[in-house]
Amino acid sequence: MSAADGDEVACPCGQVFDVPRSLRGGIANCPQCRQAVKIGGGHDPLFYALVGAGVLAVLIATAIAGWAGGFTAAAITFVVGAGILGLMAVLS
Ligand SMILES: [Zn+2]
Repeated sequence: MSAADGDEVACPCGQVFDVPRSLRGGIANCPQCRQAVKIGGGHDPLFYALVGAGVLAVLIATAIAGWAGGFTAAAITFVVGAGILGLMAVLS
């Protein structure tokens, strides 16, 4: 079976089936057991790990800036950090 026209989805029941690429990132019903299976693609798990680490880093930096420089420094750190995270999300 070729996945040239779409993505291969592996259901937990063991069935592997093809779905159109337009469904990427959504869900499809397994033809074998009828349960909804999440379709991979879009961003990979590493992306979400990086975003999660980035959010944590921004929060920590904001806390440190707030402790060291007061509310204004914390606000600036938070806005800059959130901006960088937003850019990452848009560009990837
Ligand atoms: Zn199934």
